Amino acid sequence: MKSQPVIELTQQLITRKSISPDDQGCQALIMERLAPLGFTFENIDIGQTKNLWAYHGDVNDETFIFAGHTDVVPAGDEEQWYYPPFTPTIDEQGILYGRGVADMKGGVAAMVCAAEDYIKQHPHHRGRIGFLLTSDEEASATDGTVKVVEKLMARHERVDYCIVGEPSSDKLLGDQIKNGRRGSLTGNLVIHGVQGHVAYPDLADNPIHRFAPALYELITTEWDNGNDYFPKTTMQIANIHGGAGAENVIPADLQIQFNFRYSSELTDDIIKQRVDAILTKHQLNYSLNWRLSGKPFLTSQGTLTQIASQAINEYTGLTTKLSTSGGTSDGRFIAQIGCQVIELGVTNSTIHKVNEQVAVQDLIVLKQIYQRILEKLFD
Ligand SMILES: [Zn+2]
Repeated sequence: MKSQPVIELTQQLITRKSISPDDQGCQALIMERLAPLGFTFENIDIGQTKNLWAYHGDVNDETFIFAGHTDVVPAGDEEQWYYPPFTPTIDEQGILYGRGVADMKGGVAAMVCAAEDYIKQHPHHRGRIGFLLTSDEEASATDGTVKVVEKLMARHERVDYCIVGEPSSDKLLGDQIKNGRRGSLTGNLVIHGVQGHVAYPDLADNPIHRFAPALYELITTEWDNGNDYFPKTTMQIANIHGGAGAENVIPADLQIQFNFRYSSELTDDIIKQRVDAILTKHQLNYSLNWRLSGKPFLTSQGTLTQIASQAINEYTGLTTKLSTSGGTSDGRFIAQIGCQVIELGVTNSTIHKVNEQVAVQDLIVLKQIYQRILEKLFD
């Protein structure tokens, strides 16, 4: 097979061992590729995190951006990899292995090569093409895209459309794009009781016993029925801990951690009120701290979903499905700008695992799909 720029760039990125939030020169490499095309760059470095904002075209024009991250999760047990995780290797079946090939250095390479070819063919294209890249997506995500978005919003930077190159596909490249994500809200709950001897329960107040009926109500509540775009809201208990470790002690406290993945039918405030109402109804003495990781966002069917679906169909023959399943991504921050955001990338079955892999052919086609989207938007 003739070597393809998108594969070469993917391999160069994998070789850079950029465990979050260490960028290891990935963004510098991308700037080297984009500079000859006339891109304007802004490096927004915060702490250990490297962020890159780059664009080509007039700031006032209709703006399309590619977004993604250059960091990866650790390799895990390297013994279990068929090939060294940071030595990208293509096997006889044309499968490229390496940490980050799917999540998401392959996607980053495809977007860079797509922009490169599009701009070479259309140096005076209509609109503006941008990149928002961060090295802090996999870890805390506190100094990455969220900070760049704050900056862009503060200066009223125009962004109309965004494709996040995260691995959105399920079984086949392009079978699914993400047009939104559920919200994620975590509750850290402590039920307070009175410690005592198990032989004298009337002198104590067992927080586990007190919480049991409330627990049942929490886990059997129907929070909503979802809607056309979102599945039903779910609540899961993630951790529960009570007890002094002795068989004869009634514990003083019970600690519970739970997480909501919620649809756009609910808000974090409504969920908080409903949980408080249940706990209050059961007359519990409790303290509760909340952590909101992301509000739900949704890009309704429109220009971007249509163009992306058409481009996917042209290159794969598939009718793509819109989905809001899966975990959170930086799309939640970019959506705050008020632009249309979708996630479109390779298959996600091996992400964060050992032997992370993508078919070489999928990366070549992904690059073509991205380029076709630019043509459909700006030609
Ligand atoms: Zn990712």
